[in-house]
Amino acid sequence: MEQSGNCIFPMEDALEMILMFDQTGTISYGNTAARKRLEYEEELCGRNISDIFPNTFRLSENGFESDLPFGNELQNLVAYRKNLTCFPVEARMIRSTDCQDMYICMANDMLERNFLNREIEQVRQEAKQAMKVKSEFVANITHELRTPVNGVLGNVRELLNDDLDAQMTKSLRLIERCCEDMNKIINNILDFSKLEAGKFTLEPRRFDFRNMLDYVKAHHINKITEKGLAFFMTVSPQIPEYVIGDELRIVQILNNLLSNAQKFTSFGKITLEVVKTAQVNDKMELFFIVKDSGIGIDEADKEKLFQSFSQVDASISRKYGGTGLGLNICKQLVELMGGRIEVESEKNRGSTFSFSIWVGNEADGEEHSSQSEEFKDSKFVPSSDFMDEEKTENIRKYGTSENTENLKRNLSKLILCVEMENWEKAEMFMGTIRQLTEEAPPEVKRVVLRLKMAIQKENYDKVTAGFEELDKIL
Ligand code: ADP
Repeated sequence: MEQSGNCIFPMEDALEMILMFDQTGTISYGNTAARKRLEYEEELCGRNISDIFPNTFRLSENGFESDLPFGNELQNLVAYRKNLTCFPVEARMIRSTDCQDMYICMANDMLERNFLNREIEQVRQEAKQAMKVKSEFVANITHELRTPVNGVLGNVRELLNDDLDAQMTKSLRLIERCCEDMNKIINNILDFSKLEAGKFTLEPRRFDFRNMLDYVKAHHINKITEKGLAFFMTVSPQIPEYVIGDELRIVQILNNLLSNAQKFTSFGKITLEVVKTAQVNDKMELFFIVKDSGIGIDEADKEKLFQSFSQVDASISRKYGGTGLGLNICKQLVELMGGRIEVESEKNRGSTFSFSIWVGNEADGEEHSSQSEEFKDSKFVPSSDFMDEEKTENIRKYGTSENTENLKRNLSKLILCVEMENWEKAEMFMGTIRQLTEEAPPEVKRVVLRLKMAIQKENYDKVTAGFEELDKIL
């Protein structure tokens, strides 16, 4: 065999060992990798394949004998070096198609790969252990943090029952609010670390589905209507009265989505819709849709949403607060319940978060008793606030009657908050005013900006001046 021939050349530099031998087992070619790993020089040619693989090939009168199947199948063999030490290889033995008397062995040294695999496995185990220790530590520490926070909260609430002056009440309310926020963060971190450590278990039980939704609604309705937003809830009559699932966690997901919807929407409406999408034996799939007409999310940011500690941008976290854990927890909870969570959104046009979950259906579980039309609930919606897409669109456009009406309403709510020294709420209405004047001429925007700064500085005189100026323009 001519070693420098064109057909041999690409094999010469191959990373895997390549040997060619005839029916007597005599090796006629070994590439650089083979010579190097088997520690032979040129004398590899002329050796017998049974010298390299003594456990696989035996010499006989007719040449070599082997039980090895010839073909593309990978075989785990042991190769022997010239000095009779050995190492594992993964090899393929094929019969040359050009020349029936010629065999080719292509082998990879597994010593290095096995060693690296062991190293990788060790690193993986160490990382897993470190992750577990970290998650346990976080779970313990957050648990420990709850006790002092609840201690402060309890005492503050007790003090609030006393006869206190306005300033003292205001300070204590602030402390109460901080403790509540801290509790929310602690709970989020606790859930997150439990989910990450795989220690989270669902606790399904039978519950009244519409009662659960009423509870969720009651939790949000004040904040939603306070902002002048409309709220609609629709539940398909196909969903039975009682279902079996982890009620607490379903409430947690809905609370998170509705809080976000409320947080990121200044005008328009928020809707919650629940439908039944599938039934398999005694399990059914429920589909929840939370839709808002708020600030929306950029296409590029959508992917980041469900990652942990992710907020669309830093200015959002400064303005609206939050840890960026909420949606990641929702995603993990939804997946534990056998479903998926998705988002559809357009910048400045609102967002729609939807998720599916599987819940149990009692054997005799009937559809919602009334057999009525959909369970539509709009009793908390001021009729004048009923809004279709077109109206929401008009509110956005500076100068339309809907826009001016909304601006005036928010401005009077703002000044009321300032009178009552509720600066935090005044800032919320200020945010809405800024959004409503996004397309306004520069001179209006300047007045709005001055008003915003006056509110941030809690400067009563400048706020009244700004209010009057803006009121005159409107
Ligand atoms: P956080 O607890 O900080 O609110 P989330 O995981 O719930 O964290 O939300 C992460 C980010 O996703 C938010 O900070 C916001 O940027 C974006 N987001 C979530 N819901 C909405 C929504 N309805 N409209 C606009 N942006 C949203």
